[in-house]
Amino acid sequence: MPLYSLTYCSRVADPAMVSVADILATSRMNNGTRSITGALMFDNRCFLQVLEGGHTALTELFVRIAQDRRHEEVTLLSMVPVMARRFPGWEMHYISRLEADQRMIEAFSTQGRFNPFAMSPATVEALIDRQAKMAATAA
Ligand code: FAD
Repeated sequence: MPLYSLTYCSRVADPAMVSVADILATSRMNNGTRSITGALMFDNRCFLQVLEGGHTALTELFVRIAQDRRHEEVTLLSMVPVMARRFPGWEMHYISRLEADQRMIEAFSTQGRFNPFAMSPATVEALIDRQAKMAATAA
């Protein structure tokens, strides 16, 4: 089955009303049965999510996620064929700003804060690659 990687970013609708634990629980429950892996970054304002899997499974999931009222401005950044998963074994790896190291935040942030909307495609890719390496050592 050809493998794809989908990346999008969004803004949380209301930080006080969103439970990332709930989102992760649903993701991990659903993604495993659809052979979807990936990672979710969140800093209480913006989400950046990478999803890996088959084209149909990813498209169906992204349509569902885009309709979720817990976030807004859902913006597709890329959907590309890939040779291998960057987050194998992770039904949804979670990266919170607090867990990320300060040097990484400085390297990939705009004006000192995580803002995937302002990142170039190359910066988004570099950030995801960095996170994938960290996930591989944590697995
Ligand atoms: P149901 O669970 O039947 O929900 C019906 C509707 O209510 C949907 O529109 C749903 O989006 C919304 N909803 C569900 N729970 C809540 C809640 N607690 N508060 C407000 N609205 C709610 N799902 C995955 O399967 N895999 C993922 O990787 C994934 N990543 C996500 C990342 C983000 C940033 C967000 C916000 C959501 C993510 N979800 C993910 C959840 C996804 O949007 C759907 O809620 C989930 O897949 C269940 O879909 P459903 O059609 O069965 O909806």
